[in-house]
Amino acid sequence: MAKPFKRTSNLIGIFKQLYPFIKPYRFMIYGTLFLTFLGALAAQVNPLVLQYTVDEVTKLTDQENPMTEGIHILVVISAILLGKELANIFIQFGQKFYGEKIRINVSSVLAQKAIDKILDYRIAYFMDEDHGMGKLQTRIDRGIESLTKLVQNFFIDILPLFSNAIIALVIMYMQNVYVGLVSTVVVPIYFYVSSLQAKKLAGVRRTLRNQREQKTSGLLNLIQSIMVIKSFVREKFEGKKQYDLQMQLMESQLYTRRTNFIYDGLKTFIEQFGVVLIILLTVFLVLDQQMTIGAIMLHIMLFNNVSAPIRQLHRIYDDMNDAFIYAEGYFDILNADDEIEPSGVVAGTNIRGNFELRNVNFSYPNGTRALHNVSMMIENGKTTALVGLSGAGKSTVINLLCKFYLPDSGNILLDGTDLNDYENSYLRSDIGLVLQRNHIFQGSIEDNIRYGNMNATFEEIETAAKKAYLHDQIMDLPEQYQHDATQLSGGQQQRIAIARLFLKDPPIIFLDEPTASLDAIATEQIKNSLDAIKRGRTVIIISHSLSQILDSDAIYVMKKGEVTEQGTHDELMQKNGVYREIFDASARSLNLDKLVNSYHQN
Ligand code: ADP
Repeated sequence: MAKPFKRTSNLIGIFKQLYPFIKPYRFMIYGTLFLTFLGALAAQVNPLVLQYTVDEVTKLTDQENPMTEGIHILVVISAILLGKELANIFIQFGQKFYGEKIRINVSSVLAQKAIDKILDYRIAYFMDEDHGMGKLQTRIDRGIESLTKLVQNFFIDILPLFSNAIIALVIMYMQNVYVGLVSTVVVPIYFYVSSLQAKKLAGVRRTLRNQREQKTSGLLNLIQSIMVIKSFVREKFEGKKQYDLQMQLMESQLYTRRTNFIYDGLKTFIEQFGVVLIILLTVFLVLDQQMTIGAIMLHIMLFNNVSAPIRQLHRIYDDMNDAFIYAEGYFDILNADDEIEPSGVVAGTNIRGNFELRNVNFSYPNGTRALHNVSMMIENGKTTALVGLSGAGKSTVINLLCKFYLPDSGNILLDGTDLNDYENSYLRSDIGLVLQRNHIFQGSIEDNIRYGNMNATFEEIETAAKKAYLHDQIMDLPEQYQHDATQLSGGQQQRIAIARLFLKDPPIIFLDEPTASLDAIATEQIKNSLDAIKRGRTVIIISHSLSQILDSDAIYVMKKGEVTEQGTHDELMQKNGVYREIFDASARSLNLDKLVNSYHQN
């Protein structure tokens, strides 16, 4: 089970963590803030102009010839209003564009940072069930999405709206303290109702999004498993599952809508109630001759500026909550510094390839005990085979020799130096690893082989493919070396791995059941290419294939994490122990007697 997202962060905490990412854009931010301030000032122009107009026009109507004087006022207010709108175009564009620019920049920096960090983490990090492929991706995506939304909200919604509101309130107070007080009193009621709405909806939006995602992946899963579904006649069952999901989704959608409609209605009522209060008060003040008629307009419009941000409050509140929840998951990924792979400093020595394991004990992070007091000598220039039933710990030995994991106790030496002291990248560039299934990257055959040596020329890639018995098959493909490598057969993909190995040309080679997933013909061809590359290098091979074991210079037999026997094939056969057992079983499974007979008869 994944750990539930926990909410421990607060706004200041988030901004503190975000600061290093935002800092490079601080001048852009100052600019945006300045524009926000200008925008907030501009928003007050309409109320002020309206007040001025009403008051002046009222005065004019008392005069004899109001039209001549009036023209002057009309020109002035038109100029002010249109000039303001023109300025507003630039202010709003600048504010929105730079707000977006900051968001997009911060988002791409955050995404790249997470990738750079993750690439440096040790293998064990990825084995944690909380860090599975999809989970990390989701956490990064959601974290970045909510963080950047926060940044964007801040610059595009929160700041402009609230500065607008504050300036409007200040003007109201400056005009008349009582009107200012009335609108200030209405504000907390708004806040309260909005926060109630936000609480009611807390998490529903997230649930909705999860349900939508489930629905989408539900269909994907259906398509992927369509053969199994049909063969077990489970169409109705799967259909019902999707129906239930759909019903839940519908319920959440209706709940959100209902809640929003109710609260929005309530808020409109309260807002209008505020407007009524302002009208009553201002009209009273006008009648009391403390105010001009224009002030009624002014205050109603200013009050509108005060209440506007609060109308948005529930949405902003919800977005912030999202950020609190998802930012944590993202920053956890970024701050897992104790997961960074430890590395030594030894580099540049000429690695010969003599490994020695001394009383090595190792358990995987999940507690599985994989190696128990293992000691081995792996000599350079020779081929050492690791033999044993599956789960015996053979691959684990290779994992430790690659420094993918570190032993819990005991030592591993390479050419007499502790393996921990080697710089990881230096060590690994001297090791070639071929596994039972090798990863093929999305892309062409050429690019996939080039992974063995990024600087290789096309001719070198061709030579490597020839040595891996792959070239002729590639030439038969329509796009030859540009063919999509992921479409190749298992055996061909295995040969790509071997071609990579030829290109990398390392002094040390680890082969972990390189032919286990192949048919007999491919196995033989790959054995030939491997035999070619084995010469003069330190090789460890894990294999169930007798022919590959028989050829080895030394054999270690493992059982339940321990080395139980060691020696050459002949020595081990005479011991009549586990090796002999495995050997005999393999021979029987091959039906060797019958094979040999039919071989002789033909
Ligand atoms: P072999 O290569 O001989 O088949 P392994 O070295 O793969 O055996 O496995 C040894 C033991 O360690 C097994 O019990 C296996 O289940 C366990 N194991 C292997 N890989 C992991 C891993 N990544 N996390 C936890 N346990 C593992």
